[in-house]
Amino acid sequence: NGEVIDTKNLRVKLVLLGDSGVGKSCIVLRFVRGQFDPTSKVTVGASFLSQTIALQDSTTVKFEIWDTAGQERYAALAPLYYRGAAVAVVVYDITSPESFAKAQYWVKELQKHGSPEIVMALVGNKADLHEKREVQFQDGIDHAEKNGMFFIETSAKTADNINQLFEEIAKRLPRPSP
Ligand code: GDP
Ligand code: MG
Repeated sequence: NGEVIDTKNLRVKLVLLGDSGVGKSCIVLRFVRGQFDPTSKVTVGASFLSQTIALQDSTTVKFEIWDTAGQERYAALAPLYYRGAAVAVVVYDITSPESFAKAQYWVKELQKHGSPEIVMALVGNKADLHEKREVQFQDGIDHAEKNGMFFIETSAKTADNINQLFEEIAKRLPRPSP
């Protein structure tokens, strides 16, 4: 009927934070390329990938994903990395309580130094390793709720909940006013 459909195209910077080895790079590669390489070594050199998804309301969201090149070891560099990020994905490994403690540290850092409108997600990765689980699902939920974050458990290995993670983030993005 001649009506013009106004499709909104969002472009957002997304950073991943969390201990080395929790699976940040594997989550990104699973989401962007649909692959999991169990032999891959820790990321060397900066890595930048992008992926666009479409939502049901015909909005498209292009994620510009910044994956650390091991700078997670140098906490002082982190603010340079998450500056201007619309989304921060804080990842821990459900088999590692240390990585969960580190995730809580990153959440605090983001609250202190991140942009006030930043959308934050808490991700318990390696959910396929349930027999080695040391961080309970409920502990993840509780921490996320306390901090106004979205929570999900994923497996980059089996692909479980990887697309859902990014879809849920996309739904929570602030929309530019028309
Ligand atoms: P990063 O340092 O946080 O980027 O971690 P990587 O993505 O390099 O992954 C570290 C190690 O964990 C690698 O040996 C991966 O194969 C493994 N890994 C990553 N994600 C998963 C997962 O969901 N399940 C299992 N079982 N292993 C994973
Ligand atoms: Mg990495």
